[in-house]
Amino acid sequence: MRRDTKLQHLGEEVHHLGAVTPPIFQTSLFVHDTFDSLRGKLADSSAEKEHYVYSRVGNPNLTMVEKKLAMLEGTEDALVFGSGMAAISAAILHGVRAGDHVVCVDTAYGPTRSFLLEYLPGIGVETTMVVGVDPEEIFGAVRENTKLIYLESPSSVLFRIQDLAVVTGYARERGILTLIDNSNCSPIFQNPAAMGVDIVLHSATKYLAGHSDVVAGALCASREICRAIELREGQWLGARLAPFDAWLLLRGMRTLRLRVEEAQRVGKELFEFLRGRDEVAEIYYSGDPEHPQAGLIARQQRGHTSLVTIIPRSQEEEWVRAFLEKLDVFQMGVSWGGYESLAVPIFGKPMDWPDEKWAIRFYAGLEDIEDLKEDIDQAFAALR
Ligand SMILES: *Cc1c(COP(=O)(O)O)cnc(C)c1O
Repeated sequence: MRRDTKLQHLGEEVHHLGAVTPPIFQTSLFVHDTFDSLRGKLADSSAEKEHYVYSRVGNPNLTMVEKKLAMLEGTEDALVFGSGMAAISAAILHGVRAGDHVVCVDTAYGPTRSFLLEYLPGIGVETTMVVGVDPEEIFGAVRENTKLIYLESPSSVLFRIQDLAVVTGYARERGILTLIDNSNCSPIFQNPAAMGVDIVLHSATKYLAGHSDVVAGALCASREICRAIELREGQWLGARLAPFDAWLLLRGMRTLRLRVEEAQRVGKELFEFLRGRDEVAEIYYSGDPEHPQAGLIARQQRGHTSLVTIIPRSQEEEWVRAFLEKLDVFQMGVSWGGYESLAVPIFGKPMDWPDEKWAIRFYAGLEDIEDLKEDIDQAFAALR
């Protein structure tokens, strides 16, 4: 069977009392008839994944999503968590001990950066930030005690790309674990494990769940890594997903391909509409044919999402405020990947810019693209 067929049915082969959609296993524990069964002494080790004792470690609703995610990412297994950050922090903590060093791309998701820069030093782990566009710069930051390279491609806000095959080839030779945040592309547009990445991370809150009604996260990796994280960081930090949230995620994932393909269509239109406007000084979009890394993007990705960032020509806070408040169809809010279009102001700079700037990141949802364009038009016009 092919990917789209598996996406609908994998992990849901048993129909409980004939129900076409799976029940929600709203239970904290699982009882067993025998001593050996409770203690996990299974005749067949392949049944390990569906041997349930306690929902902090495993639950059938989580397993259904995990099987589909592993299939989509082309990894042996997957684990879902209570948020993207729960998956990210569990994966990072799994890979480091006191005295270790991490190399991370500077344009990674904000809380990931601050976890590395503000939390990890407290447990004796140092991080070096890199721009990440040139592999040689990444290799130059690697030290003898580097245990982990953290990637995010395309990265948040500016959609910078890392050369995954080159970076993972280098890391593998030195026994360095590689992690990537693949939320932007979703597994439909990019599969980093095929390019050698050890742990693929997702904020499932975004495209995977897709309806702005659940916060969830996931990691996809080998069976060995997943099993180890399940029993260590999953168990001890205890941030696994709740059964109902896993059920919502499963429902959202049924339409994942349709939604990201639509996002690709409207994202391109939004980019073309904004490009060259008087109000726009700079524009960032992973599908920009003039993206400085367009060749690499074409090799690594099968598509582009509907996130477009502009640097407005006016750098007055008042202009940014008035523009965002004038928007009507685009709502003002963080996050993305749901049904609704969003715009969010961001003030800051990557490590290689001299000064901070105001940026506006647009996310085009499932509304009519003509309404989205008209909305931006009227907000620009009102400020002229
Ligand atoms: C939102 C986001 C996260 C964090 O995920 P949560 O589910 O909000 O914890 C991580 N990475 C990226 C790129 C994101 O956009």
